[in-house]
Amino acid sequence: GPIIVWFRNDLRISDNAALLKAAQQEQETICLYVFDEDADETTEYGGAQKWWLHHSLTALAKSLETIGAKLILRRGSPEQIIKELIDETGAKSVLWNRRYATSHIKRDTKLKSDLTDSDIEVISFDGALLHEPTKLRTGSGSPYKVYTPFWRAFSGMDEPRDPAPKPDKIVSYSKSLKSDSLDDWSLLPTKPDWAGGIADEWTPGEEGAWERLGDFLNGPINDYKEGRDFPAQNDTSKLSPHLTFGEISPYQIWAEVNAKQATHTPNKEVFRKEVVWREFSYHLLVNFEDLKNKNYNDDFDAFPWNDGKKHLEAWQQGQTGYPIVDAGMRQLWQTGWMHNRVRMIVASFLIKHLLIDWREGEKWFWDTLVDADPASNTASWQWVAGSGADASPYFRIFNPILQGEKFDKSGEYVKLYCPELRDIPEKYIHKPWEAPEKILEKAGVTLGETYPEPVVDHKTARERALAAYQKMKENT
Ligand code: FAD
Repeated sequence: GPIIVWFRNDLRISDNAALLKAAQQEQETICLYVFDEDADETTEYGGAQKWWLHHSLTALAKSLETIGAKLILRRGSPEQIIKELIDETGAKSVLWNRRYATSHIKRDTKLKSDLTDSDIEVISFDGALLHEPTKLRTGSGSPYKVYTPFWRAFSGMDEPRDPAPKPDKIVSYSKSLKSDSLDDWSLLPTKPDWAGGIADEWTPGEEGAWERLGDFLNGPINDYKEGRDFPAQNDTSKLSPHLTFGEISPYQIWAEVNAKQATHTPNKEVFRKEVVWREFSYHLLVNFEDLKNKNYNDDFDAFPWNDGKKHLEAWQQGQTGYPIVDAGMRQLWQTGWMHNRVRMIVASFLIKHLLIDWREGEKWFWDTLVDADPASNTASWQWVAGSGADASPYFRIFNPILQGEKFDKSGEYVKLYCPELRDIPEKYIHKPWEAPEKILEKAGVTLGETYPEPVVDHKTARERALAAYQKMKENT
């Protein structure tokens, strides 16, 4: 019987161990992707990622064709569909690359044991992470809770393996199989089509991923250590959505960065450390329970959050009156991505200035980010909230004015996403409410009309946040 290669978040043909194994067997192979209708809230794709998935699958089907394979699309419960496909074709073996969201691990383990019980061979491979998240342990045998020792332990492990080559040829299953039309899955927005800005910014698929990596290695990496904090500079790789969908593997990125002789070591090192933050997030996700819903530090269960529906909406829409926050939220909405420095600023603003539960922010990011990732999103939100492992202490409250002035001094980034502020001089770009009336008038800005007044006063909000934290401590 044929082999089934089950694609999930590994939408690539090079360094794809499961696919390569099928090619080496030289047996008829079925390449399958299932749109999971049984996904839970931790794994169900948000709107922006549905858009991405549509285009990524289109790209995958094309590249599979170049090696003689056809991508079969079905929707429903993956477990059921795989069992049906086995009945239909007499397949004897199922291959996949491992994935690590908690519910995915559970389901894959169960399916593997069910299939093995019915004499179907199942082999799973690595591909999404450089080291298995259960492998690294402290001296006393427990998982790491702090990044720096994790990084040290990581650096002491064997170097990640070399990426595997792309198979030359897949022997495609010879009978014809029913396959859905991608359009019937309705992954793309209809009216209004909010994805225009996302489409301008990104090329989903393996080829698009390699283009990004190439662009990054040809320039920005040489300034990564300093430049990565300045959102107007585009000095980061923008590989995150490609990594999340597995269009490129961390092994491939690792190897290409290492091979880049001309780049100074500190830039490479800082970049590698960021890639390992992703590994650390998975380490936390896999080794601790339900990080999406539960505070890692349960003192925060007693935190007096605000409901603040109006404030939440102002934040989501980029209408808080703080230019750096609004620019970030609008970049997110328009392009499906936000610069890391600005993610920290907007998250801190939601949690500390507006006193809104970090889980609200996590949800919004989940729906709007093209790189929404079950590990990195949750771990990062908990990190900003102060409730996470190795978190930034709650009482360290970002000042959105000073953050703006430090990391976007001239306001170039702000003006890109808040064009109504384009004529505000540098001195006031991060605090337009302090500008004299004459200057606002000249810039064509009327606060409260063309651009909002600040939804909260920074100093008052800061004192309120500290008082709320105090209250939490008294209650625990
Ligand atoms: P680069 O600077 O080029 O880094 C290279 C790669 O390293 C990234 O693609 C990413 O895979 C990894 N990486 C970098 N920084 C981090 C980090 N702090 N934590 C984990 N991995 C990192 N990243 C996601 O991939 N998905 C998310 O859903 C996500 N949500 C976030 C939410 C908040 C509140 C914050 C503060 C950060 C979040 N991040 C998330 C982490 C980080 O912002 C993005 O990974 C990064 O901005 C992606 O851009 P890049 O590819 O240009 O990064």
